[in-house]
Amino acid sequence: MQRRTFVQTGLSAGLLGVGGLATRAHPARAAAAPRPQREIRLSSNENPLGISPRARQAILSGIADANRYPQLRAPLIEALAAMHGVRSENIVLGAGSTEVLKMAVEAFARPAGRLVLASPTYEDAEWYAEPGNLEIVNVPLTPTFAHDLDAMREQAARATGPVCVYLCNPNNPTGTLTPSDAIDDWIASAPDHVSFIVDEAYFDFVTDPTYHTALGWIRERSNVVVARTFSKVYGMAGIRLGYGIAHPETAGRLRRLNVRNNANHFALVAGTASLEDGEFVRRSLSVNERGKRIAFQCLADLDVEVLPTHTNFLMHRIVGDLRAHIVRMRERGIRVGRPFPPMLDYNRVSIGLPDEMERFAEALRAFRKAGWI
Ligand code: PLP
Repeated sequence: MQRRTFVQTGLSAGLLGVGGLATRAHPARAAAAPRPQREIRLSSNENPLGISPRARQAILSGIADANRYPQLRAPLIEALAAMHGVRSENIVLGAGSTEVLKMAVEAFARPAGRLVLASPTYEDAEWYAEPGNLEIVNVPLTPTFAHDLDAMREQAARATGPVCVYLCNPNNPTGTLTPSDAIDDWIASAPDHVSFIVDEAYFDFVTDPTYHTALGWIRERSNVVVARTFSKVYGMAGIRLGYGIAHPETAGRLRRLNVRNNANHFALVAGTASLEDGEFVRRSLSVNERGKRIAFQCLADLDVEVLPTHTNFLMHRIVGDLRAHIVRMRERGIRVGRPFPPMLDYNRVSIGLPDEMERFAEALRAFRKAGWI
């Protein structure tokens, strides 16, 4: 059984302070769902463009070697090391960055460790803590939806055994940033038994000039792992490829916890090809911006509160029951994000193609007429 602590400060107070939206009349006609159209997925923060043309070609050409065990780890690792200005020993591959989170939680928090993380945040680190019987401490976000680093620090300081801190920056599901300088301050002063997983899955989408990666720490500190993924800007969510960047000693510890040949042949060739396709990354970012503008414009027109986002998803207020909202969207052929307790009066929506976001906006406008938003 897990031991679980929920720190009762911050977010709940912040959420209570956010102004409610006026509910409207409920005309039965407006409530009727229109004819079903092609289902669109705005639920898992995927890249709506698909994979890069170069990655597609690499997969097709790679079929010839699919009967062999994967042999092309080195070129991918070398390309990643060059891109980040580190050495190959600093890189550890994963079947998605989720495997890196698993390895890092296992490496950092055991035995009898404590996992300190925000609430709400991406769920996987907590999921991986369960078999290890770790003590989990969920610390509410601040009223501006940043990690409450002071409260997290206090929780880390109270632990007697090893501590693993999971920082998701930008944070999923809120899309918000935690100041990079404040993260640096904590890492700089943390004792060796406090380790950090800095999850930068949405790094490529951030344009805020105050934001920076935590990568600089891995040269001098063995208690930091930065996790990155090919699932978002590179559009490879179904292929499963991610990586961790860490001090060589730490990368070695993580490697011993992974499954052998975790990155399959297609992941390796597609990953390497993706890194060479800068044009695809630029197009992905530009399509994301266009989709975001359509959604934000509609939410502003309807006066619906939406959190500032630095990612390929957004989080907006809803009225009433979140599960009912998700079902209603589904009835219109739109899959939106799952619930992220305790933020049950918000819905997370991934940014799709511009025409998909037009459909999302149309649904929101219909929901407003029905008094559902
Ligand atoms: N980290 C964050 C913050 C995420 O949002 C996700 C997926 O949505 C992941 C990690 C896992 O990504 P993957 O395992 O596909 O690399």
